[in-house]
Order: sequence, then structure tokens, then C-alpha cells
Amino acid sequence: MDNTMQARTPVGYIRGMAAVSVLSALVACSGNEPGSESRQSEQSAGEPQSSRTAAQAESGDASDGGTGNASSDNETAQASESSDSSDEADTNLASDCSFDVDVGDNLQYSVSQITVPADCSEFTLNLAHTGNLPANAMGHNWVLVPEGDGLDIARAGSSKGLEGDYLADDDRIIAATEIIGGGESTSITFSLDGLEGDYTYVCTYPGHAAAMRGTFTVRS
Ligand code: ZN
Repeated sequence: MDNTMQARTPVGYIRGMAAVSVLSALVACSGNEPGSESRQSEQSAGEPQSSRTAAQAESGDASDGGTGNASSDNETAQASESSDSSDEADTNLASDCSFDVDVGDNLQYSVSQITVPADCSEFTLNLAHTGNLPANAMGHNWVLVPEGDGLDIARAGSSKGLEGDYLADDDRIIAATEIIGGGESTSITFSLDGLEGDYTYVCTYPGHAAAMRGTFTVRS
């Protein structure tokens, strides 16, 4: 925090110096011009006078702006510090060792993250398709795989067809529901033995896995 303040201070200082140098340059110009006092007095109501007041006005604005910027920088720093205590992302805690996930006529799970207590011996996922499109047009499933393996396993399942629930014969698949269409629901119950940390769930319907993915966390 102190480093930030120290880093900001020279900036404000440099701004102030720039304003001063501009002012001195203006003063130098106006000081050179009036070689004869009579000309200056003749034109006192004219341009030199107005330009000088303009310069004074500018210098006033510059110094005010300098201090104004410095204080607003401080306010910004304080605001950002206080905003650091923003809420953490909600965790969808499956406190009763089960969780309901909805899908519809789009490529989206109702949640992108599920946390399961590690003391659950089993976990049940209930998948409901609240859309209208049939399984052969907008089918969805819920397939749990090791973190990062979702796209690969979904791609491998595309050749299995709807009859095979687009599920590859892959030992990495931890749990999987069938493919369901609009108005249908299904569920899968599986053991959590040996599971800890983060996993990925995906829909293996062709083309869905890139968007339909989430994180499944087993946490003690
Ligand atoms: Zn899907």
C-alpha cells in the first residue's frame, strides 16, 4: 500500500512541475514582448492583457487540476482496496449429497460449478431437461470426467450415436447419465470413493461440450 502511494506521489509532482514550467514559459514570452512600455500600455486593454489573464487562468486550472487529480487518485486507490472484499463466487454446495441440474433448448447447464462434501459416500445428480426439443435435436447428458478431459471424451463419444448416449468406452468416465430430450429427466448415483478435488462435467452430445462444461469439486 505504501509503495502504491509513493508511486503515485511523483506523478502528481511531475504534473505540478509541468504546470509550473508552462507558466514560466508564458511569463518569459510576455516578458520578452513588451520592449517598450508605451506599446504595452497602449495595448493594455488589448491582446497581451487578455492573453496574460488567460495564462493565469490556465496556470490556475493546471494547479487545481494537479491537486484535484492527486486527491482523486487517492480516492480511487481507496475504492479499489475496499472493492477487494467483494463476494466470492457462489459455490453450489450439495449438502445432502445430491444436486439438481437443469438443461434446456440451449447449450447451458443451470450451474457451472457443484461442490460435494467429501463425507458423502455417494452422490446423486438429477438432470432435468426443461426445454421442448427432442433428444435427437437438443439432447443433453451429464458426464463426469477428470479435469480437462471433457472435450476429448466428448469427441470420442460422437461416433456412438444417440443410441449409445454419445458415450465413449473410456475408463476415464467416472459417471454418466443417459441423453435426454425436452420434458425428460434422469439421474445418476455413484460412489465418491477415491474422488477428491476438481473434476469436469460435460455434455457429450456432439458439439455441446465446448459450452456445456462445469466443475465438480469434492471438498472435505
Ligand atoms: Zn447437451
